[in-house]
Amino acid sequence: MMTVDPNTPLDCGHPPTPQTKGSITTGRATDPDTGKTMCFLCAEEDERQRFATAERYSAYLTKQRPNVITTWTGAVLAKVTSYTLSPKRYTPTGGHYQTEYVRAEAPDGSRWHGQGRADDDLIHLRRSKSGR
Ligand SMILES: [Zn+2]
Repeated sequence: MMTVDPNTPLDCGHPPTPQTKGSITTGRATDPDTGKTMCFLCAEEDERQRFATAERYSAYLTKQRPNVITTWTGAVLAKVTSYTLSPKRYTPTGGHYQTEYVRAEAPDGSRWHGQGRADDDLIHLRRSKSGR
């Protein structure tokens, strides 16, 4: 079986980002388009650049940091400016869920709106046409 040396540089030229003990992440990110591996800092820079030009973007909104939209590595992409939770909706199987609606503003001044399920961390954003 092949093992990967944790100190082997990634495709971005840096070693994997050191992780705190007990973390489930590996310290490396993989570009979904090219398959290249990157350390977290490079991945964040990459995500920020994509976000700056994207019309739609899926990012994270967690209970621990309800005021910011982040990348999966935890880098802040935008500040939440409004947050609304829908009434509970029941599913045919007896479960229920709530939808969360957010508005957010990025550091470059662009405005976004998005929605996601309240019980998971993913939020799907769209750039607001009327922005600025
Ligand atoms: Zn790097």
